[in-house]
This record gives sequence, structure tokens and C-alpha cells, in this order.
Amino acid sequence: MEVVILGSGTFIPLPERSSPSLLVRSEKANLLLDIGPGTLRQLSKAGLSFTMIDYVLISHFHPDHTADIIHLLFVLKNTDPSFVHPVTILGPSGTKDFIKGLQNAYRGHLNLSPKLLRIDEMGKKSRRNCKDLIVNSYPVKHTSESIGFRIEDISGKKIAYSGDTGLCEDVVQLCKDVDLAILECSFPEEYLKSWKIDTHLSPSDAGKIAKEANVKNLILTHLYPECFRIDIIKRCKNYYRGNVIVAKDLFRINI
Ligand SMILES: [Zn+2]
Ligand SMILES: [Zn+2]
Repeated sequence: MEVVILGSGTFIPLPERSSPSLLVRSEKANLLLDIGPGTLRQLSKAGLSFTMIDYVLISHFHPDHTADIIHLLFVLKNTDPSFVHPVTILGPSGTKDFIKGLQNAYRGHLNLSPKLLRIDEMGKKSRRNCKDLIVNSYPVKHTSESIGFRIEDISGKKIAYSGDTGLCEDVVQLCKDVDLAILECSFPEEYLKSWKIDTHLSPSDAGKIAKEANVKNLILTHLYPECFRIDIIKRCKNYYRGNVIVAKDLFRINI
């Protein structure tokens, strides 16, 4: 599998970090994991196109993870059908209502034929076949609907993506023995502690999860500017001895 980080940032507009999204590619499938504002433009910057997307996996409904759904549906609706192929949106429970709400707000300009758009709600622990990839959802600690995704290819390689989450046992299970874990890393622990936030991870939390789950490689993403006031790799490596990469937009890795 190839992973392309499209957005390594958050809802804060920054020139160098777009909102959350990444692409997982196999021989047969192209999966977009989250689709924050600017995702389609990031795809084009990576030399790729929205027309290649087979599946959009949504971790939760926060706008920084979903806003470019609007752009995707609108551009699909207005593109010559011979250039596009069907897209399946896989999301947590409530995804059908969420998309319907957007379609109503945009007065039908996002309505696609059922041949072009399929919406599939995953439970908190469910499994789907996406062409040559297997996707499993796991509950995570963020909003009531939030899920993370574990993706496995036919050779048995495994990638885990946390979406947004706090530290919890489920996220350790999500990451268990994967070749690559892509974990959110929002703020250093002193900020989370002083704001009493337990629905995001610090670099130390990400390190603890990676160690406990026996992860082979770790990417830290969903980085707020506060993360760059400290050495996040050092904080993470206090707990985890494996390979740690700080995500950058358009970074690519093969697993
Ligand atoms: Zn969120
Ligand atoms: Zn977020």
C-alpha cells in the first residue's frame, strides 16, 4: 500500500498544513481517509485527481474532517460521467443523515444518482471489503460517533488511522501490531492537561499507544501549532523506540 498525506494540520488555516486527509492506495483501490477543507486541491498538488477516488472513509463529522465532501459531490455532479466512477462514502452511524443534510442545504446541487454515490454506515466494530483491501472500524474517544480505521491488504500489511481520539484502550486495539499507525497528535500534554481535554492525543500519548500496540512505524499528524513549540519526536520517543515520522503535507510512504 502507498499512503499519501494530503493534510497534516487541523482547522487552523496554515499555508504549509492543510486540514486532515490522507490517501491509501493499493493495486485496485483508492481510499480517502477524511476529507477536510482543501483536500481535492491537495490531491491535485500531489499530481492525483478526485476522479480516482473509490471510497471516502469519514472518521467523524467535525468540519475539519468533512468539509470537502461538498466540493467532491459538486465536482462529481458536474463532470462528464465517462470520466468518473462510483464513490462509496463509508462513515459512522448518522452518515446518511449528514449527507442528506448537506444535499438539502445546497438545494440539490450535491444530489448524485445512486449509481454514482453509495453511502454505507459502519458500526463501531464492523468490517467491509473495499476491492482488494479490508477495512475494519473501531470506536475511538472523541465525539459520540467517532471511529478509527484499520486497513489490511492481500499481503497482510496493516495500517491504522485514529481519526481524532483521546487515549483509550480501543485505540490500542485499533493499532495492535500494525505496520504503520497514523495517529493524531494535537497538543503537547501540558496544554491538554490545563484545558482539561481528554479527547485528543499528545505526542507522549501517541508514544504510549505505539509501544503498547507494538506498532512498526508511527506517523504523527493533526498537528496544532502548539506542537512546534516543543520537540514532539523526543516526547514520543520517551515511550516508543520505533520509527517516528512527523507528517508533512504531500509526504508519501510505501508499506
Ligand atoms: Zn474532531
Ligand atoms: Zn480534527
